Amino acid sequence: MNRMAETAFKAPVYIKPSTKLKKDWFYFWLLDNWKITSGEFAGSPYRFLPNYPFMEAVAKDMSPEIVTMKAAQVGFTELMVAKWYAYAALLQGNLMYVLPTDELAKTLARGRIKEAHSINPYLEQHLSGFDTLQQFKFRSNYMYIRGSQTQIRDGRQYQRQLISIDISRLFGDEVDEWNHRVFGKLQSRLGASLDPIAMYFSTPRILDGGVHKLFVESDQKEWAIRCRLGSCRQWNIGLDIKKHVTYFDEPDRKPHIIICEKCHEPLDRLEMDPQFSGWVAEHPDRERSGYHFNKLFFRAANIDTIVDRFNDPETVEECWNDDLGLPYQPKAFSINNDTLEKCACQSFKTWEEILKECRPLTMGVDIGKTIQYHVRGDRLGMPVMLECGSVHGYDQLSEIAQRLNINRGIVDAQPDFRASLEFVQDMKRYGLSFKVAYFDTHGEKDRVLLRVDTKNTDVVVIARSLAMSQVMFEVVTGKVILPWDVINVDNGDFARHMRAPLRTFKENTETGQQVMYFPRTRKPDHHFMAYVYALCAEQLVQDVANIGRRRTGI
Ligand SMILES: [Zn+2]
Repeated sequence: MNRMAETAFKAPVYIKPSTKLKKDWFYFWLLDNWKITSGEFAGSPYRFLPNYPFMEAVAKDMSPEIVTMKAAQVGFTELMVAKWYAYAALLQGNLMYVLPTDELAKTLARGRIKEAHSINPYLEQHLSGFDTLQQFKFRSNYMYIRGSQTQIRDGRQYQRQLISIDISRLFGDEVDEWNHRVFGKLQSRLGASLDPIAMYFSTPRILDGGVHKLFVESDQKEWAIRCRLGSCRQWNIGLDIKKHVTYFDEPDRKPHIIICEKCHEPLDRLEMDPQFSGWVAEHPDRERSGYHFNKLFFRAANIDTIVDRFNDPETVEECWNDDLGLPYQPKAFSINNDTLEKCACQSFKTWEEILKECRPLTMGVDIGKTIQYHVRGDRLGMPVMLECGSVHGYDQLSEIAQRLNINRGIVDAQPDFRASLEFVQDMKRYGLSFKVAYFDTHGEKDRVLLRVDTKNTDVVVIARSLAMSQVMFEVVTGKVILPWDVINVDNGDFARHMRAPLRTFKENTETGQQVMYFPRTRKPDHHFMAYVYALCAEQLVQDVANIGRRRTGI
């Protein structure tokens, strides 16, 4: 800290209150004073990338409360850190920048903050007291960088400290991962300030909570692009993957492009002309300013990748959050006759010809009043349902398994574990490998579809929701071949049972995240479950094949 800066600091000229500042002051302050703190352009003066007009508009917004519900990694932290300093430079009042954890707070301090001070003489001049990188004085204002959750032993005392600090400006980064109690307390604490300013920005992870709730209560601005190429002049407000992306549900139909909702001509994401692009508020009368940043309108975002992620059950939730900037809100979902018919076999080959092309064969068995079975084969990587039906006893089932020479099978452990186990052991005499299965939810977290029981190698444990969703996904995306008369198979019971399970989501009360689950249903779903077991049995084959490969070193 040099003496000049100290003297300059002692007679500060503050313009107060904030409303007297010129409307676009931060925008010009940013261009005049800020140097980029990270990435490719680190050290160079801040500038807005061409074709990112939406960022400029946000920088010009001087509302005291701004909420940004955003996709991940869209360069927002840089803008917010700069704004944090700008407020410290021009207004009186302590400032706090809060991240989800203490660890992240330290990372920000040691990275961007340290860098900002070292590359930017303007900032260095105005630093007037220096405790740590997480707590320092800038002009007459204290600036704090904190984590909302802390790993240190006396977490409670730390939180008390956190909320007892006197602040007028709160910058909340990734608020959806904050300790929720701290969030509420900091908000009310800020309310005590005469001239409070709050910036909340986060990738939304909680439906109807966190940043999503704040956004819903805001003026809800969406980026809009007006159709120009199609000459219909329609304003397309808030690019929506289902309305504005070609073949959003068919990942293989690349390249995917952004189109006008009305005339389906391409939309220009690089549109700069204010006559043809801009933020549009759903509720312009509301005080809180809110933005939704969706990756679809970013020039650098790869639409094909987003569509891939949208259609993969492993990444769909991340896609909603990180790419579309939305909380995951799927509707309850089930299979219908149309979906089943889309999977119906179109081949002119006979059943016997198709059977010959399939290896390995697996069988799934569910036990209700009768025994439902499902035989599945792999035909050049595409699963085929070869046979499915109902039998009245294990003898009949055994005949079918022997006739088709099934490689692996899985039999429901319910309602009679002993009977199922006897059948499985009996199958060994014919050289057919069967296992008894029961469900548990332990694998769901680790995304482990099935594992062999350590106590009894004839038993496997299946992650229920995970396995059911794989079956549903296979059918819905047409990644299975079903019989040509699929609706009438087993007197219509197959289709009836396939339509029964309902996939929905519930919130994990600990993490606030949405967890997929299939509520138990009263409708019979035996054929669906037999399908689940056959699919899992195939996994068993693959695992054994992989183990074999590893052993032989191929
Ligand atoms: Zn159009």
